[in-house]
Amino acid sequence: MLLKLFDVPRSHNLIGGVWVPADAEVEVINPSTNKPITSIARGSANDIDAAVIAAQSALAGEWGSMTALERGRILIKVGVAVLNHVEDLAKIEALDVGKPLTQARADAIALARYMEFYGGAADKITGETIPYLDEYTVYTLREPHGVTGHIVPWNYPMQIVGRSVGAALAMGNACVLKPAEEACLTALAFAAIAQKAGLPAGALNVVTGLGSEAGAALSSHPGIRHISFTGSVSTGQLIQAAAAQNVVPVTLELGGKSPQLVFDDADLDRALPFLVNAGIQNAGQTCSASSRILVQRGVYDAVCTRMAKAYSVLKVGPAMDDLALGPLISLRQKEIVTRFIDRGSDLKVAAQGNIVSQEDGFYVRPTLFRDVPANHPLAHDEIFGPVQVIIPFDTELEAIEIANNTEYGLVASIWTRDGGRQMRLAKKLKSGQVFINNYGAGGGVELPFGGVGKSGHGREKGFEALYGFSSLKTVAAWHG
Ligand code: NAD
Repeated sequence: MLLKLFDVPRSHNLIGGVWVPADAEVEVINPSTNKPITSIARGSANDIDAAVIAAQSALAGEWGSMTALERGRILIKVGVAVLNHVEDLAKIEALDVGKPLTQARADAIALARYMEFYGGAADKITGETIPYLDEYTVYTLREPHGVTGHIVPWNYPMQIVGRSVGAALAMGNACVLKPAEEACLTALAFAAIAQKAGLPAGALNVVTGLGSEAGAALSSHPGIRHISFTGSVSTGQLIQAAAAQNVVPVTLELGGKSPQLVFDDADLDRALPFLVNAGIQNAGQTCSASSRILVQRGVYDAVCTRMAKAYSVLKVGPAMDDLALGPLISLRQKEIVTRFIDRGSDLKVAAQGNIVSQEDGFYVRPTLFRDVPANHPLAHDEIFGPVQVIIPFDTELEAIEIANNTEYGLVASIWTRDGGRQMRLAKKLKSGQVFINNYGAGGGVELPFGGVGKSGHGREKGFEALYGFSSLKTVAAWHG
């Protein structure tokens, strides 16, 4: 049994409410120790096909005939069931992806919150009536796409499953979920929880396995009517190309190089924890990580000194020890991030944190660089590890130019007490979200999220996601 508590058998996929054994397996490694802990199914194109058919049957059957209220009630029950298992899910996540327990717990609570939010929202999405010629009555209907595909990365498995599957189910779609091969365990546990809480068979199907196999089969399957993807730009491009063949919409969330702009008049005491945490949370493996800190000259040395002090006491170790940082997800990710740190050999290191583990996990020392030229690779490439660069600026105009000088645009934050500047910059920054005197606003599920440029397109979270997971039908009735 893979996840005994949840009755999930090892190396099985969930298809049509039944755990189906796979022909092959993928070994699961604990990133804190670099030791195998179990295995998951290496799903094939046939498994994806079976999952799509099961989802179509669910739409033709019990799930598809439910009212929005009934769907919403089930999702709320799923949310409560998840809340009852926060500790179990957090421990599984810590072992599977190396996430410190406190963060893993927060992710499990967020998963529950998505179910509650979208459960409550299910019966509140309405169409509209449109004033038109006197002899017509015109109105719009919001309808589900049908079977939706969800390809999820390894960095926030529970949160991303919650925001994507929660909204799709609330709108009445049936889902085929392909979690990342490095991070499947909580997705499988969640599917088991949802099924026990009353989600009808086939409404949520989970096929685990490799991106190039199960992932590619899912994104190119003609039965999939919408694809939601979070991950790298290069894979997002493949998925958009596959979706184009079937002419289906995609939501892409592809990461960023998100800046925080600190002006001379900023409240530094308030800003400091946000400046650091937004870079090192989840060991920097966060799409909305703030990897660029732009600081005006008047407070530049003060910010560098205070951030360096915070970095020098950061501890990195096993997820179960619940330190500031755990390991990175994989040896590959450790090598990518280490190469980036090496590329900063011409830069000034302001401070580094310390690895305190005796284990052979995928640990990297969090590293803060200062006085970084805005055109340095570390100042514009996404690193996806615990690395931040501090860049000085003189004027507001210069700050905007540096902030916008990237292909990405996911999140930006402004630290200033000047109200006019807050409003000006909120308009001028190329970013899907802008935060004023905070970063992330606690990650509320209510807040629409997504990028511009190579950060992707489409919005998840909030009510916006429900629009994305539905299509609009216009009905015009002639009555004379
Ligand atoms: P990835 O984009 O390749 O993987 C993300 C998901 O896509 C996984 O579920 C994977 O199985 C699937 N996938 C991979 N190839 C696929 C294909 N051909 N067709 C369909 N699905 C496919 O990411 P990665 O290789 O695990 O990580 C590489 C880099 O991606 C990281 O260093 C980081 O920069 C970025 N990344 C970003 C995010 C984010 O939240 N935006 C998350 C994870 C990784």
